[in-house]
Amino acid sequence: MSDAPLTTLPPEAAPVKGAQGCPRCKGHGYLVLAGAGQARAELCACVPTCPRCGGVGRVSVQREGALLSGRCRCRQLHDRIDHFNWAQVPARHAEATIAGFVHGALQHDKEKLDALQKGVGPWLDAFDPLKPRGLVLHGPVGRGKTHLLVGITRDLVFKHGAIVRFVEFSRLLGQLKEAYSRGEGDTALLTELAEVPILAIDELGKGRLTDWELAIIDEIISRRYNAMRCTLATTNYEPKPATGVREVNLAMVEGSRQTLGDRVGDRVFSRLREMASFVYVGGIDMRPVLGG
Ligand SMILES: [Zn+2]
Ligand SMILES: [Zn+2]
Repeated sequence: MSDAPLTTLPPEAAPVKGAQGCPRCKGHGYLVLAGAGQARAELCACVPTCPRCGGVGRVSVQREGALLSGRCRCRQLHDRIDHFNWAQVPARHAEATIAGFVHGALQHDKEKLDALQKGVGPWLDAFDPLKPRGLVLHGPVGRGKTHLLVGITRDLVFKHGAIVRFVEFSRLLGQLKEAYSRGEGDTALLTELAEVPILAIDELGKGRLTDWELAIIDEIISRRYNAMRCTLATTNYEPKPATGVREVNLAMVEGSRQTLGDRVGDRVFSRLREMASFVYVGGIDMRPVLGG
């Protein structure tokens, strides 16, 4: 008896989906709703009880005279729902999808369509769960980069079964600082961020960064770089090496003359350059439509 999934079950055991034409889940079988603080995925009511395992999640099959038992493939959707909830996408982005970004981008907004058609689309098509390349979305504030990053996270989880952790950069630093001040030292959180298969960082480089915070970022990115793990990010800063320019108001993002190298250090920047594809997201300010 093994707990491994039975991957070669007959076609009728294909992964569970929702009812075709379901108005709530559009046939995907899951919904993403704004929960308390974070977006929460759940099974849509249209998903029928699995005829193979009766909803128990385990099946047994006779093969070459032996009785094999394992997890039913209907669990795949349940697992992905769990993975999405583990990713911790903020509640305000619960409805963000790539399709929504396309819909929000006006047809004549060529820069946004380019970002999708020449940047994000080819990156997603080439996505290899065994050798995933990173992605950095950069461009001015309000062009929908966060929306796009959430949409990508959703696709990676539900289409590829990827394990992704989504973090807002300034919140992440706050959480780490809290853990350290509780005396947790080299925290479990830091290890989790360094070791999660895919880390999605929203607003990389934002905020007033202390030397301690820069060292933390350096450590996370270095560990991910050395282990060849996939890192995704959005940033409002130009993806260029440090210029040394100082901003009087460090909280200023829009119109800042600082580059990503100035913000996170040249070492982190050059590692990201190696690990990730960079896609410019420009065009019309979408804040009234999408936020972020
Ligand atoms: Zn449904
Ligand atoms: Zn089943």
